[in-house]
Amino acid sequence: MIRAMRPLVIAANWKMHTTPADAGELATAIARRTRDPDVVRVICPPFVCLAAVRDALVLAGDDDVAVGAQNIHHELAGAYTGEIAAPMLAGLATWVILGHSERRRDAGETDPLIARKLTRAVEFGLRPILCVGEQLDERDAGRASEVVEAQLRGCLAGADPAALAGVGLVVAYEPVWAIGTGRTARGSDAAAMADTIRSTVAELGGASSRPLAEYLPVLYGGSVTSASIAEFLAEPSIDGALVGGASLKPDEMAGIVARAGLTARARRAAGVA
Ligand code: PEP
Repeated sequence: MIRAMRPLVIAANWKMHTTPADAGELATAIARRTRDPDVVRVICPPFVCLAAVRDALVLAGDDDVAVGAQNIHHELAGAYTGEIAAPMLAGLATWVILGHSERRRDAGETDPLIARKLTRAVEFGLRPILCVGEQLDERDAGRASEVVEAQLRGCLAGADPAALAGVGLVVAYEPVWAIGTGRTARGSDAAAMADTIRSTVAELGGASSRPLAEYLPVLYGGSVTSASIAEFLAEPSIDGALVGGASLKPDEMAGIVARAGLTARARRAAGVA
């Protein structure tokens, strides 16, 4: 059976690392080491490095590497000191990470707030990587699927599936206990969660829910390295990775993207993705 072709996506989350002085060089080093037409590559530096990364990639002829922000505010403008609104990113970023667990933890972001940010991303044509994932105690209690389903329903409440498909929604499954800890989920657990994510999205309602779910790229995130990526990409329901710590190392990114490229070609040859 020929199933929907979903792209392989490797997204780098640089978190609070790099400066405008060194971000461009790191971005071009990564771009040079990861050229592969079968992999969608995204680099998400800190806000202040977006212009430097964009300019360096253009200058190096690597502007097929997309640039993403790590967050946006839910309002368009106003008295929100230190915040960045979606329209401010015009010309700087085409993707945005939303609902990262570090923002849920440190900035108190809730599902309804993330839903408002998602609306802004769609409005301004920013391709969202929506992050969901359970805490360790929730997994140990057998509640991982329930938690992720609730996060998805909360973040996608009221959203128009056709608009989400139009902007190219991506979901990253990131078990919180695996982020920055060196521990990873098992590939089979991540794959089971990807199935849960797609069935939850398919139930959003409306005629476009099912196609949205079918074409939805689901990434795994949580201590991915060039050594661990293969286990996740061996699962047909996993379409790439959101990479934190390892994304600051060109050697690591080279290995991760190389495996994604091999996976994309193998899936295409098998006609299964
Ligand atoms: C992340 O930042 O989304 C992430 C998964 O980080 P790390 O790869 O360092 O665990």
